[in-house]
Amino acid sequence: MGAFEAIGTETHEEVLFGADRESGLRTIIAIHDTSLGPALGGTRFYPYADEDAALRDVLRLAKGMTLKSAAAGLDLGGGKAVIIGDPATLRSEDLIRAHGREIDTLGGRYVTAEDVGTTVEDMVLISKETPWVSGLPLDQGGSGDPSPATARGVMAALRAIGERLWGPNNLAGRRVAVQGIGKVGMDLVRRLTEIGVETIVTDPNPSAIVFAVETYGSKAVSLDDIYEIECDVFSPCALGAILNEETIPRLRCAAIAGSANNQLAVDHDVQRIVDRGILYAPDFVVNAGGVINISVEADGYSVERAATMVDRIYDNLTAVFETADAEGVNPQVAAMRFAEQRIAEAGGRRFRHRSGVQ
Ligand code: NAD
Repeated sequence: MGAFEAIGTETHEEVLFGADRESGLRTIIAIHDTSLGPALGGTRFYPYADEDAALRDVLRLAKGMTLKSAAAGLDLGGGKAVIIGDPATLRSEDLIRAHGREIDTLGGRYVTAEDVGTTVEDMVLISKETPWVSGLPLDQGGSGDPSPATARGVMAALRAIGERLWGPNNLAGRRVAVQGIGKVGMDLVRRLTEIGVETIVTDPNPSAIVFAVETYGSKAVSLDDIYEIECDVFSPCALGAILNEETIPRLRCAAIAGSANNQLAVDHDVQRIVDRGILYAPDFVVNAGGVINISVEADGYSVERAATMVDRIYDNLTAVFETADAEGVNPQVAAMRFAEQRIAEAGGRRFRHRSGVQ
């Protein structure tokens, strides 16, 4: 794939390729759209098979961030960075700081955060090179790990789903199947248990399973059986592309809502879901809790303010369902239209610098 072909097709604003010979850094930073504000999105540190795979991933993820922030009502654009390599062997302070210097050259058009393969400690190192970093520890004025906020946002989405399908305050006694009980999934199981929801879980990590069964009374099933569990809501909290031609016909749930990014293998899989009479909550609306939490850093982070903002995912998702009904489209299309309209209304303004001309 030619780089300009890829960028042109996806209408990204800018892509930066950065390298540092001493530390072995190879990074790609993609700015998808800054109509609504600076492009916020994490740095993924991952052993990509080749540069094409890294470029494809960063372009796709940056675009996803534009949609997520716009749909959440945030004045933020979408961007993402990838570092090519295995963090277990390549990570060093020099490399992370070299990445920070690349981010700094963009003058605030891109703001980074944690993602797969990077940690809060990496953000602290990046902050030594550039102010354009978020997700710093709470004691340094940052918002810390975004996962609890993401799980809180999934709960808000589940309330919107519950109200639509079963009436107000009707989640207690329901069954939710959670695929993946890592940072977000486990906190979601905890929150569900607290309000009397039964959980069915799966994860390749045996210690996570033991913990959920012993602590929350979850029922454990195999990685494959999770698709066929009879439940009220199926909640993908592990991997992307798990809603596809093969899995959708097997689902026995009334609704789908989870934290995983890019759950649909291809866009039209949403129609397969709708055709089966299953209510689909678009992933980028449901899992915006993390980015909403980070956005609160801009005005001085407060846990309470962040929680209030994350809870608005209930209103956002309710509005998506109502628009879908009114316009006769599926929820995915309704959510994308809402996000795209906000971006269009910004008039194609491009963010140059936080303290500069917008
Ligand atoms: P995590 O790595 O902590 O957890 C993922 C879990 O999924 C792990 O326990 C892993 O063992 C499990 N898993 C892997 N393969 C699996 C499979 N085939 N079936 C079932 N489980 C499997 O990640 P996380 O931070 O909890 O994020 C979960 C998902 O939510 C990811 O897709 C992530 O991109 C997305 N997300 C996370 C956040 C956040 O704030 N952490 C925000 C937005 C979106």
